[in-house]
Amino acid sequence: MKRISIAIDGLSASGKSTLAHGLAKALNYLYIDTGAMYRAVTLFAIREKLVDREGNLDEEAMMEALPQVYLTFRFNPGSGRSEICLNGRNVEKEIRSHEVSRHVSVIAKMPAVREKLVRAQRRMGEMKGVVMDGRDIGTVVLPDAELKFFMTASMEARGKRRFLEMQRKGRAVTLDEIVENLGSRDLIDSTRDHSPLTQAEDAIVIDNSDLSIEEQFDHMMACVKQVLEG
Ligand code: C5P
Repeated sequence: MKRISIAIDGLSASGKSTLAHGLAKALNYLYIDTGAMYRAVTLFAIREKLVDREGNLDEEAMMEALPQVYLTFRFNPGSGRSEICLNGRNVEKEIRSHEVSRHVSVIAKMPAVREKLVRAQRRMGEMKGVVMDGRDIGTVVLPDAELKFFMTASMEARGKRRFLEMQRKGRAVTLDEIVENLGSRDLIDSTRDHSPLTQAEDAIVIDNSDLSIEEQFDHMMACVKQVLEG
């Protein structure tokens, strides 16, 4: 059976990871959440006090500290997912905090951070049979991916989705704070100089504001089948 690479890019909280994980599971492919990698670097920066509460980043200190950041993914049978480890410790829960979300786009803007993570992502994507999600996967990390998706949804739908997710996890954050964070991340992510969030020309666009997860999954699987049988 032919194995392919699938790139999924899109806006913050557009449902990329749910679908990427679902596709990878159905196809028995490896799933790589590249956002988790930028979040883990951000957690490291917060812990090392390289970024302050206002989001001011000490870029020079960050550059110096980068070689101390070692990221891996480890499969957790409990969640059925590969989870991110920062220097050997599972930080999957910590990286989803609102504080990390507030600072991640500033850190992901740094060329040295991107170079380090893109190198690692390309290595992980070398073997076919991978679903990778992020912002620059179809354009920069895996430009030769056989199948590319670009996911988008209205701010209302994305904000509501993330709010419910945070409530389920018992995190104290308001809908207004979430909408503000999604807006500012979209802006920084799509206007930065180095590999900004852009739709690859050959990507299939999915606006999922009014689509259920099952509808999106069926549509994406039909696209996969077409490529595999083509
Ligand atoms: O996907 P997620 O929303 O968890 O990503 C968190 C942040 O990481 C994004 O807002 C973006 O700043 C950064 N990111 C990126 N490139 C990627 C994946 C994520 O710049 N490929």
